Amino acid sequence: MTSVFEASMAEQPVRPTHVEVDLGCLAQNLRAIQQHVGSARVMTILKANAYGHGLVPVANHMVQCGVDYLGVAFLEEGILLRRQGISAPILVLGGIAGEQIPLFLQHDLTLTAPSVEKLHLINETAAAMGRRARVHLKIDTGMERIGIHYYSAATLLEASLACEHVQVEGIYSHFANADAADLGHAKLQLERFHEVLTFYEKRSLPVPMRHMANSAGILQLPESHLDLVRPGILLYGVYPSADCQQTVPVRPALTWKSRVAYFKVVQPGHPVSYGSTWQSDHPVRVITVPVGYGDGYFRALSNKSEVIVRGVRYPVIGRVCMDQMMVNLDQGTAYNGDEVILLGSSEGQSISAAEVAEWAGTIPYEVLTNINTRVPRLYRNG
Ligand SMILES: *Cc1c(COP(=O)(O)O)cnc(C)c1O
Repeated sequence: MTSVFEASMAEQPVRPTHVEVDLGCLAQNLRAIQQHVGSARVMTILKANAYGHGLVPVANHMVQCGVDYLGVAFLEEGILLRRQGISAPILVLGGIAGEQIPLFLQHDLTLTAPSVEKLHLINETAAAMGRRARVHLKIDTGMERIGIHYYSAATLLEASLACEHVQVEGIYSHFANADAADLGHAKLQLERFHEVLTFYEKRSLPVPMRHMANSAGILQLPESHLDLVRPGILLYGVYPSADCQQTVPVRPALTWKSRVAYFKVVQPGHPVSYGSTWQSDHPVRVITVPVGYGDGYFRALSNKSEVIVRGVRYPVIGRVCMDQMMVNLDQGTAYNGDEVILLGSSEGQSISAAEVAEWAGTIPYEVLTNINTRVPRLYRNG
């Protein structure tokens, strides 16, 4: 049964609802970031399916662009990239479970060591396998997520000196508030990180590769660029927050499109969609679009968002369903098969991830990462 299903799926054309990713745009964004950070190296962050843009194609393109390092959240993402033949260095940013360590080593993935206990486990596993583990030490300077607290970090750095089967290639921390207008906390975090790093200077030891800046740090805190920067959302052409200064020119690489699947006139007194939350006081033209919350178009956008058809913005009306939603053209014009832009630009109009986030009561990160894997991704300018 499975093979029949797969065969029939393979013969189908691409769904009318799909995402287009402009790889040339990603390359330009990367270049803009590189220019801005000067001599610092760049680790592009590819977690959560490359922020919805597609992990493997984006990773391949980044490698082609000559990026220095790739960053992912989980071991599984790193293994997938290795299986696709990507040999560039990959740092797994997230925490690790002890039993996963052999897999990191087998696939030549760089580990994050957030504690003395995990570091020793990595060292012992590497020794047993006759290998040397490549590790970045993780310092918590004010995020309280993973990493050894800055005030006890010396124990981790000290312990690392005695680990013969570990190569400490890097040391890093992560900002909690670098996207804010008030950079007080971010600057305090950076100060704490520098304090930790004096460990090496005091002992005249070479300092591992230091990194801290996410997109917001890249944009707002040049002094945080250090030896390497870790852009995520900025690479994809989206700014981290409305408060964040836009010091690097980038463009969104992703466009989310669908097509008109149905057209009708809705009469007054005939409410639209589940719960009958919307109706008109005059006859209106309404189209149905084959996309819904099952694709990651938030149900919270019901009666809130807009889409672009033929260069005009129109409101989504009634509840967004799992696989479909309705749009009010009022007296506007559209035909079956016309393109509908959910996110991105068309004919001088544009709907940004920030705008969709605002409508849905969330942040642009979630708008992008929420686009479901059932939405096909198409790649241009590769
Ligand atoms: C996600 C993440 C980043 C990238 O964050 P952006 O705000 O998207 O630039 C950088 N570093 C770490 C540790 C992360 O988890």
